[in-house]
Amino acid sequence: MKVLKFGGTSVGSAEQMKKVARLVAGEKNIVVLSAMAGTTNSLVEISEYLYKKNPDGANEIINKLATKYAGHVEALYGSPAYKAKAKALIDERFDYIRTFTKDLFTLFEERVVLAQGELISTGMMLLYLQEQGVKAVMLPALDYMRTDKNAEPDPAYIREKLCALLDEHQDADLYLTPGYICRNAYGEIDNLQRGGSDYTASLIGAAVHAEEIQIWTDIDGMHNNDPRFVEGTAPVRHLHFEEAAELAYFGAKILHPTCVQPAKYANIPVRLLNTMQPQAPGTLISNATEKGKIKAVAAKDNITAIRIKSGRMLLATGFLRKVFEIFENFQTPIDMVTTSEVGVSCTIDNRKHLDDIVNDLKKYGTVSVDDDMVIVCVVGDMKWENLGFEASIVNALKDIPVRMISYGGSNYNVSLLVKASDKKRALQALSDYLFKN
Ligand code: ADP
Ligand code: ASP
Ligand code: MG
Repeated sequence: MKVLKFGGTSVGSAEQMKKVARLVAGEKNIVVLSAMAGTTNSLVEISEYLYKKNPDGANEIINKLATKYAGHVEALYGSPAYKAKAKALIDERFDYIRTFTKDLFTLFEERVVLAQGELISTGMMLLYLQEQGVKAVMLPALDYMRTDKNAEPDPAYIREKLCALLDEHQDADLYLTPGYICRNAYGEIDNLQRGGSDYTASLIGAAVHAEEIQIWTDIDGMHNNDPRFVEGTAPVRHLHFEEAAELAYFGAKILHPTCVQPAKYANIPVRLLNTMQPQAPGTLISNATEKGKIKAVAAKDNITAIRIKSGRMLLATGFLRKVFEIFENFQTPIDMVTTSEVGVSCTIDNRKHLDDIVNDLKKYGTVSVDDDMVIVCVVGDMKWENLGFEASIVNALKDIPVRMISYGGSNYNVSLLVKASDKKRALQALSDYLFKN
């Protein structure tokens, strides 16, 4: 059994939905769907109005979205009977969303609103497949996808509930399930964060020991640099799990940051494929490395660098522990660290407690902060015995000021910190130097 996940653009119109239905019919796999493109953004916008106690603003977007969906229903189904069923489905969902314009609106209600996009897209696809004569069965995500008290997925629960559902419906032609949404440890509706349908797919893949996890999107696999900023990027055919995990974490939007881990632990290959061009080979993520090859570059935005300089650091045991403890106290993860005998630089992407952190760090030295930075991450087979990769990276960036360089934490990545205003130039320079023969 395989797990096939289709992202927002892949199911972004009636035509796309038909294409996806053709791609998935005929094999008994688990199909995970995102909300149709733009829907979750609209649901976020509706929630923003409701937080601001502006029901009119919310209703305007709800009505626009409902009209759009009425158009999708008209275009998707062939028969009046299925058009009516689908219309009833979307009417019910939008009426439900409208109920939130009348009451108190909190984080709890927001999560319920955000869940509607995937419930609608999978509901529509289920009806379409049924109209085509495919015996598709819905696996309700809220019945098996759960996070624990640390907001981490609960694999034992997911496996147990999901396997029970599959057992119950052994005669299905295929299974359909919403990505992104889940219940939390308190049984409330929650989600796996924006872009989290990829995570749903890999959690399911690991739970059922799938043969393969396929992430179908709007591009022919992982490119060697961010195509939104760099010209002339090309697909990478093979990535090691670690390489893919680093790229996803450091900003390659094609994959949700946490989605590689479950597949890696269960050793299930992940294939990135293009719904718009299903025959394209895409990218295979597995346990294999290509010796000495630099594969790709990604960038993570909104980074703040903090330097603590201390004359007393030399030979001071416990200095780093004290510094890191301050970040821990404020629940602020550190991305990158570099040290010297006189100080340490760290980066964070969550500035919520920055002032408190800086204040506490002042106990141990002189503190300076650099805002608006970007981590540029170069990924590939970079064992320290391999020669030349550091020189190539540094050479590529010879005209760009670099605030921090980090290597040695893994065999797969060199990270560099540059100013946000230099991001595009840095990415392009790396592509030009590393990937053009
Ligand atoms: P989906 O809605 O299918 O989940 P996403 O928009 O989340 O799709 O991810 C696909 C997009 O990721 C691509 O359209 C592309 O613009 C962007 N992207 C960023 N970095 C990369 C990369 N290195 N390779 C491929 N795509 C990338
Ligand atoms: N629909 C959600 C989002 O837009 C989840 C996803 O697409 O993966 O973030
Ligand atoms: Mg995505």
